[in-house]
Amino acid sequence: MPEVEVIKNAASAAIRAEAGAWFDKNWDPELTLGEWWERLAESGWGLPAWSEDWFGKGFNSDQAAIVAQERKRVGAYGPPSGIGIMMAGPTIVNHATDEQKQRFLPAMVSGKEVWCQLFSEPGSGSDLASLSTRAVRDGDEWIVNGQKVWTSGAQFSKWGILIARTNVDVPKHKGVTYFVIDMDQPGIEVRPLKEMTGGATFNEVFFTDARVPHANMIGDEGEGWGVAVTTLAHERNSLGAGSMGGMGGGEVIGLPDLNAKLSDLMKGGGGGEMAGMAAAFGGGGASMIKMLPAMFNKQKDPLVRQDIIQLYTMMEIARYTGLRSQAAAARGQRPGPEVSTGKLMASNMVRHMRDVGLRIEGAQGMLHGKDAPLNGMMQFLALFCPAIAIAGGTDQIQRNIIGERVLGLPSEPRVDKELPFKDLKVGTQR
Ligand SMILES: Cc1cc2nc3c(=O)[nH]c(=O)nc-3n(C[C@H](O)[C@H](O)[C@H](O)COP(=O)(O)OP(=O)(O)OC[C@H]3O[C@@H](n4cnc5c(N)ncnc54)[C@H](O)[C@@H]3O)c2cc1C
Repeated sequence: MPEVEVIKNAASAAIRAEAGAWFDKNWDPELTLGEWWERLAESGWGLPAWSEDWFGKGFNSDQAAIVAQERKRVGAYGPPSGIGIMMAGPTIVNHATDEQKQRFLPAMVSGKEVWCQLFSEPGSGSDLASLSTRAVRDGDEWIVNGQKVWTSGAQFSKWGILIARTNVDVPKHKGVTYFVIDMDQPGIEVRPLKEMTGGATFNEVFFTDARVPHANMIGDEGEGWGVAVTTLAHERNSLGAGSMGGMGGGEVIGLPDLNAKLSDLMKGGGGGEMAGMAAAFGGGGASMIKMLPAMFNKQKDPLVRQDIIQLYTMMEIARYTGLRSQAAAARGQRPGPEVSTGKLMASNMVRHMRDVGLRIEGAQGMLHGKDAPLNGMMQFLALFCPAIAIAGGTDQIQRNIIGERVLGLPSEPRVDKELPFKDLKVGTQR
């Protein structure tokens, strides 16, 4: 065996031994979820891919996977999941001051405070830089007016990562600033939006003279677009097919208690859609598909077997494509345009899961809720499936990114790129 392999194996064995010993000693099913998350956060074993200075161990993705295996071996819950851990945390680690990290990260990693992402607006989704929510400086504070939409988990959140326009005299990408805003204040109104799954996990958010201290500005004034790109890259990375079992570490453990675990996820983070995504990516969707042939006596059906092999092949390829971006993230680097491949693959995989699952269920696939097989989880996944191709940037936008930034194809014409924002006909200015 080459010397480098011997050293690598020895290092992996040491990590397994250390992690295993820690989980054996510290996991206690009698703890509340909050107590357990606190213990995980303090130890660094919950988010081992985060840096040692900030609640992690500085491990690469292979090493973090070993820690996750040891955690699962003792049957322990993962760390909290959701927008805080997936997107806000890594952005704060990359761009915030040490004082800001100290203020925001401890309660995030221990699951005490939930976060939401205040980016999309009624007139600005794919063309996010055209956003028109305004923030105007007032002494030590900024005053925010405008509207956001599709804000997942806003109704549960203490903090929001907000991008707002602070200068209309410069081109659209240059006058945007990034803030952390306290959601618990009179100037913010959260109105839930009903989804076709029956849930209402995302919201409209209205700002009327809402306030955010200057001390909560992340990065420099007018430089928020660069900070937001970090958030978006981490979002695509977390939602990508390569992050299966990811969702910031939250997971679905086995099918028999799937619903209980899903409801834990809902409490812990971004709400039902996080659970939907976790069901799809965290192994739940795949576990369901694996169980269905036996339930419907179709184990020997060659078409069903072919479909399932195809799904597991996609998952395996996705795992490898995800390793590259996860390794970069573990080194503290911003995930690059390659995360768009994983995001596209996730859309394809979930569509395939939906088609295969409903095909196996046959006529029973038309049932709903408790009447349907597996309490309607397949139907939930089917109804939630289109969201995967939209959230975090649509499939078309991922293809544009791959075309322009990976394949080097000519870029889309962007006639508004150099014009001052105030001269554009965008968003509510249309
Ligand atoms: C489940 C879910 C959760 C979400 N959670 C959040 C959240 O927490 N916070 C948040 O800020 N946002 C959130 N979003 C919003 C999401 O980021 C946007 O929906 C997404 O970026 C698309 O924007 P849009 O809906 O405005 O569509 P549009 O940008 O209006 O796009 C409409 C259609 O046009 C296509 N299109 C647009 N521009 C181009 C182009 N240049 N080339 C080719 N095709 C194009 C799109 O692909 C799409 O098919 C969430 C969305 C979903 C579905």
